[in-house]
Amino acid sequence: MHQMTLAEIARGLADKKFSSEELTKVLLARITQLDPQLNSFISLTEALAIEQAKAADARRANGESGALLGAPIAHKDLFCTQGIRTSCGSKMLDNFKAPYDATVVAKLAAAGAVTLGKTNMDEFAMGSANESSWYGAVKNPWNLEHVPGGSSGGSAAAVAARLLPAATATDTGGSIRQPAAFTNLTGLKPTYGRVSRWGMIAYASSLDQGGPLARTAEDCAILLQGMAGFDQNDSTSIDEPVPDYSASLGDSLQGLRIGVPKEYFSAGLDPRIAELIQNSIKELQKLGAVIKEISLPNMQHAIPAYYVIAPAEASSNLSRFDGVRFGHRCEHPKDLIDLYKRSRGEGFGAEVQRRIMVGAYALSAGYYDAYYLKAQKIRRLVKNDFMAAFNEVDIILGPTTPNPAWKLGAKNSDPVAAYLEDVYTITANLAGLPGLSMPAGFVDGLPVGVQLLAPYFQEGRLLNVAHQYQLNTDWHTRTPTGF
Ligand code: GLN
Repeated sequence: MHQMTLAEIARGLADKKFSSEELTKVLLARITQLDPQLNSFISLTEALAIEQAKAADARRANGESGALLGAPIAHKDLFCTQGIRTSCGSKMLDNFKAPYDATVVAKLAAAGAVTLGKTNMDEFAMGSANESSWYGAVKNPWNLEHVPGGSSGGSAAAVAARLLPAATATDTGGSIRQPAAFTNLTGLKPTYGRVSRWGMIAYASSLDQGGPLARTAEDCAILLQGMAGFDQNDSTSIDEPVPDYSASLGDSLQGLRIGVPKEYFSAGLDPRIAELIQNSIKELQKLGAVIKEISLPNMQHAIPAYYVIAPAEASSNLSRFDGVRFGHRCEHPKDLIDLYKRSRGEGFGAEVQRRIMVGAYALSAGYYDAYYLKAQKIRRLVKNDFMAAFNEVDIILGPTTPNPAWKLGAKNSDPVAAYLEDVYTITANLAGLPGLSMPAGFVDGLPVGVQLLAPYFQEGRLLNVAHQYQLNTDWHTRTPTGF
């Protein structure tokens, strides 16, 4: 039962082959049995899951239908869940029970999805390896000595290990696409503003975007359908109609213009990954796509710009965790300043403290123009590169990451080495564009992802291309040994 995709579950439930309650119990037992190896969950919500599953079964018995009605999922632990711990992977929020549901959580619950639990993540979504979580590192089911990617490493590891079919995640600089690549999943970062950020604990507000992690493009379409849409509670959410993402999956790729940026194939890219990317290009050519070389000349400036903008926004967003209103509070503070200092010093881990310091520095008087303002100018250049490219092509294709998943601990002493791994993903966040990663093969037994980028609000096109590719390849069907 645990091998089923969301689409298969929807058909099975509609055909009354099993109930949501039965399936939910099977998956909860599987998580209890196998997750100690992975550490992919921070909280299991068994009672809520059984209650939601029974309610979904009752709704189906009353004649209701829907792809998510009775479908088991989990939420990255930065989506607020009413009355349930929402930790953001941090000691700071270990004691925080959200007083309300995030819009994404509420929408999926209304569609009948069943929440099995809250997944592990890098602390405040800062990281690319899921090693900065206060709840401990997450392991990659393809090789337990390797990282699953981050920051949505818990959602990725759990779905890859068939503990559940799909999960929510967020992507500020790659945190949906990179763990998808590292664990052989399909993950989609929507256009900025497509999915509401209300109740999604903020890291870098102008870059953060929620989206689906699943095994197939077909399942990403189903989950995205439940997440997307305008929300008046989020002033950056966009009032554009949500298309039927499943309806366009079958469209032909005949004549599709795919741009391949020449800058992507530089010295930093593992040649074995480059070869797999070339194979995926050939596969898409067989399906009728036309390849064109393009250029994204400002790409090399994106990492430094991102690592100024994201920490700057983080330093502002995280100032609310002051030990007064919610979250960790130190024991016996001497005075207010001592309360702030020790609560934050004890509650935040090293990577979060590093980002707050960098961000506060970049925003400080005298440095703002040199760092923050300059980074914003680079951001515009990166966006302009994409706008020029999309005048000539329909999608852009390349690797998701320059290397496969590294060994646990391998980059702990060198944060910049980890930042450099984000080279292919962060440009989409800087520009606000949608991006998808899908399985493209293996290197040393570790999965490799190919990334597709599209113009604003063209999530349907990304899902269509990925689905057609998955109808003709079987990388996405491979299962890690032991799971
Ligand atoms: N690795 C990037 C960072 O640490 C991206 C993380 C994310 O997308 N949440 O900022």
